[in-house]
Amino acid sequence: MDKDNTIFFDKIRPMRDEIDRIDSEILLLLARRQAQVEKVVALKKAHNMPVYHPAREEDLISRLRSQATQAGMNPDYLEDLYRVILRQSRIKQTRKMALKGLRPEAKVLVVGGAGQMGAMFVRLFSRSGYEVRVLDREDWDRAPEFCKDIDLALISVPIEKTCEVANAVAPLLPPDAVMADLTSVKQAPVADMCQAHKGPVIGLHPLFGPTTDSLDKQIVVTCDGRDSDACQWVVEQLNLWGAVIVPATAGEHDAVMEIVQALRHFATFCFGDFLCQRHAPLERTLEFSSPIYRLELGMVGRLFAQDPGLYAEIIFATPERRALLKEYIQSLSRHLDMLDRNDKSGFIDQFNRVAEWFGPFSEQAMRESTFIINKLIERF
Ligand code: NAD
Repeated sequence: MDKDNTIFFDKIRPMRDEIDRIDSEILLLLARRQAQVEKVVALKKAHNMPVYHPAREEDLISRLRSQATQAGMNPDYLEDLYRVILRQSRIKQTRKMALKGLRPEAKVLVVGGAGQMGAMFVRLFSRSGYEVRVLDREDWDRAPEFCKDIDLALISVPIEKTCEVANAVAPLLPPDAVMADLTSVKQAPVADMCQAHKGPVIGLHPLFGPTTDSLDKQIVVTCDGRDSDACQWVVEQLNLWGAVIVPATAGEHDAVMEIVQALRHFATFCFGDFLCQRHAPLERTLEFSSPIYRLELGMVGRLFAQDPGLYAEIIFATPERRALLKEYIQSLSRHLDMLDRNDKSGFIDQFNRVAEWFGPFSEQAMRESTFIINKLIERF
């Protein structure tokens, strides 16, 4: 080693030692932070308060962003770091809360509890100390015994079976038991449940699938049927498990879901189907691709990795949905004329009209999609 190198290493060693010391301090501070968070969780648990406090998290992030700017650091970098820290601590908190039952003495019946979503809710309620009974297709001869003293009957059967099952189970339930369902449409099932059962009724739509391992920040839409006060403990239990509750009328839920689920999934199906018909060289397109194409293709590929029956159920659920999808295809074919006429200025005019309609959302969309794209670039 020549003299120059020796001087270099003599200088850099204490600098590296200092970085190592700082890293150890960061680690200790994170551990102290976690210990403090656990005290908050214990208090929340004692008071049955939900884990996720959106306003507090956003306040914290904006305060840290402005502190980062003042300290000459990139606020996005600090936000990224803190989102990871907050998520980690939320998941830990949620796991602890998952064990907490709001009314552990209550008895829960899951009709269709052998199915995917049903089994997930059986796990959730059981883990929180509830007595859970499962009534699936083969168990109807024991239904009276299973329905005895039940506080919540949760129906988790295919959409088209919900009405029939609600009618079959209702006469066996105590009159004050809550009847709820998990179906992805809400108007008909909530009306059917109200018709079948004269006690409290609430429609639930979990906007997540059965493979979700934590309810942290997962959305559940709730639609009041009857006697919402008597149903409140069910909603609070979901909230305690980490779910974000979005109340809506059944009509509003179904109208929004036509767009969020039926139109979205159908348009994705059409795009994937077209690529398939054209025998598009997927691997090669990815090699040539911009991150936005990778992201788009990721969404399409994701659809085809899942259960076709579930998507068929969602897309074909109601006549209104099918009418909307026909309208969508008719609207696409209108653009054929534009292509036939080579009408670039018509395209630009229409583009501007749509951009104006999107308004301030476009900015949010740019910010959020840029964030996801940057994450993709980091990984692939
Ligand atoms: P699934 O097919 O896995 O489960 C349905 C269960 O219902 C099965 O165990 C089946 O045996 C049972 N069943 C059918 N007929 C019955 C009857 N007459 N009596 C008793 N049990 C009966 O379906 P899933 O994916 O768990 O969906 C269940 C419900 O959850 C559906 O209404 C669906 O819309 C809703 N949902 C599903 C998801 C999802 O991602 N899978 C998400 C949100 C909501």
